[in-house]
Amino acid sequence: MKKTTGTDRSVTQSWRPATRAIRGGTWRSEHGETSEALFLTSGYTYDDAATVAARFAGDQPGMTYSRLQNPTVAMLEERIALMEGAEACRAQASGMAAMTAALLSQLSTGDHCVAARAAFGSCRWLVDHLLPRFGIETTVIDSAVNEEWERAIRPNTRVFFFETPANPTLDIVDLSFVCGLAKSHGIVTVVDNAFATSALQRPMEFGADVVAYSATKLMDGQGRVLAGAVCGSEEWIDEVLLPFQRNTGPNCAPFNAWVVLKGLETLGLRARQQSENALALGKFIEGRVPRMLHPGLESHPQHALAAKQMDAFGPIFSFEVDGRERAHAILDALELVDISNNIGDARSLMCHPASTTHAAMGEEARAEMGVSEGLLRINVGLEDIEDLKEDLDRALGAAGL
Ligand SMILES: *Cc1c(COP(=O)(O)O)cnc(C)c1O
Repeated sequence: MKKTTGTDRSVTQSWRPATRAIRGGTWRSEHGETSEALFLTSGYTYDDAATVAARFAGDQPGMTYSRLQNPTVAMLEERIALMEGAEACRAQASGMAAMTAALLSQLSTGDHCVAARAAFGSCRWLVDHLLPRFGIETTVIDSAVNEEWERAIRPNTRVFFFETPANPTLDIVDLSFVCGLAKSHGIVTVVDNAFATSALQRPMEFGADVVAYSATKLMDGQGRVLAGAVCGSEEWIDEVLLPFQRNTGPNCAPFNAWVVLKGLETLGLRARQQSENALALGKFIEGRVPRMLHPGLESHPQHALAAKQMDAFGPIFSFEVDGRERAHAILDALELVDISNNIGDARSLMCHPASTTHAAMGEEARAEMGVSEGLLRINVGLEDIEDLKEDLDRALGAAGL
């Protein structure tokens, strides 16, 4: 019997998550390769003129140009969609290409967007600076307070945009409440799920309409390429996202898609182990630093909500010390953990958001979203937990903690 290759939804949807991550979307060529093929091609050829005419008319499936579709990228899109439990997915050049496409493809002059104040720096830039330039009104709220979402709704509100957990304060949004509220007002929810990924949290199970990703982070998982993805219903992807994407071109390169495809095969394992390491390391330093921001710890005000929505709490947490000088002293004393602003990597990385990822937004916006001068964010990797504990113990000690 011929083995299924992973493109038949009637088969792949019956697969359990681990099987989807390994085999979902695999599209074998006539050579029967085991690993997904890397199609480095911008264009395609046709046997005759009628064929190409039929493809351009949409009467015949098949590739026409890699800004519209590429076999390697299509494999990634199918695998991400399956893992997410989404009808459709389109890969993007980066996480920010994904967020920009998810917002600009559906918002127009006169529309209103409500966004979480705690967010990745560039996500805040989209909301604070880009959307208003096109006459799109925005309101930024404390996303952890359900009533603030309700209060911010106007007759022209079209989109809710947020991360959960948020970067770098680990604020949690009540997915059931916020997505339910949006639905009852005809508002589209766009959830940036980069910190958790589908391995740990599937927002569509709570009613989210659109899930957008930086695949640069946990999906790649080894700090190699930039990539992104937008997931949604087939109708939304085809009618809202695709006209924007096909004509503006924020596409994922086939090579980057191939790297992320390989990353997805181990995503579940990495996400669970890194979450376990992050929880152990958080417990190890809690009590020794003035403030912890870790959704997996009882001290996090939204711990119960995080436990309800997430299978595990992810590799990233933050903690606060008294000021920039001490935060920088900790970074400088680390011997194993690298100073780096990337996240999701198998290597442990620490950064000081106020002087890096959140520097450009200015002091006022930082204060409003809780990014203090003493805040440090760590991505906990796959190293031995005892080595990580020793390194933090040494670094905190050197900084007088
Ligand atoms: C990194 C990140 C982004 C941007 O992704 P890029 O791939 O760097 O463009 C967006 N949102 C969140 C939450 C992120 O962590």
